Amino acid sequence: MNSVIGHEAVLNRLSSAISKGQNSHAYLITGPESIGKNSVARYIAAALNCENKSEIPCGNCSQCNRIARNVHSDCETVSVDLDGYLHGDGRKRTVITIEQIRKVIRECYLKPYEGKYRVYIIQAGDRMSEEASNALLKTLEEPPDQVVLILLTSVLEKILPTLVSRSQIISLKKVGWGELAKGLIQKYKLDKRSSEELSKTCNGKPGIAIKMIEDESYKKWRHDALDQAEFLAESGSYTRFIYGEKFIKGYSADRENSIALLNLWQEFWRDILMSSYGVNDSIINQSRIEKISHYATEYGSINSAKNVRILTSTIERLQKNFSPSLTIEQLMLCMPTLTCKK
Ligand SMILES: [Zn+2]
Repeated sequence: MNSVIGHEAVLNRLSSAISKGQNSHAYLITGPESIGKNSVARYIAAALNCENKSEIPCGNCSQCNRIARNVHSDCETVSVDLDGYLHGDGRKRTVITIEQIRKVIRECYLKPYEGKYRVYIIQAGDRMSEEASNALLKTLEEPPDQVVLILLTSVLEKILPTLVSRSQIISLKKVGWGELAKGLIQKYKLDKRSSEELSKTCNGKPGIAIKMIEDESYKKWRHDALDQAEFLAESGSYTRFIYGEKFIKGYSADRENSIALLNLWQEFWRDILMSSYGVNDSIINQSRIEKISHYATEYGSINSAKNVRILTSTIERLQKNFSPSLTIEQLMLCMPTLTCKK
């Protein structure tokens, strides 16, 4: 039994290898945001420590339970402040520091306290400082027996190549909506119709579905973000330019949130593009279907495709640390506007 939604083939391979004692000392889990990297990492941690003999992870023994509840003393997560945790200096940490990795290295030579393996899950592995990556690499050259490191990243190119070559790579792909719906029914006892609707909304990413169910504030965030996408679709260049200035301020306060916003807008324009081709079945934001088909008619497929491309390159530029103000200004100026008079 497991609580991961989707990725069945990957999980089966992992269980089978681990049950034969063929685990790796380092895994590198890659895939887009919200795809389930963290859940798969916990699945590996549970499989390594599970007390059951026949089916691992069983999901029922005390090891599996403690890992699922995040209270297992041998399973530790190392991360930047993805959730906005504030430090003493009142600032968000955006890199994994050498001190964090040194702590991992010190501890990993100790015997596990309660399980068979010590497992370190390093989230946003691409945010490790160079020093931190090099220190981790040294440990991976001669890893202690009972230690497994699991690095997670959505940008594989940003991981030190020598770290990549020493890890077993697990590449997670989007989950088909049928598989996702099945998982949601099992995990949350949703009815068939709502689980199918939700699965189509979240673009193959179980993490988004989970957030939509568990987190009211995320639902509101998503709703507001789509309102803003519509507002921009209906604005002329001047309004967009003013809006862009506000966006840039928001970006310096919360980069992750701003990039998530751009991703959602890109998804929204992909929907408009699909609608302009008459492919309404693969539209993700079904709740906005009327507006989407309206924009599809007004903008047409060429301009819609242009908006998707501009948003894609904006996100890429920001991820490569191009100047946020120039990048956003360019976005606001280059997005085609409505030709019709309102
Ligand atoms: Zn178990």
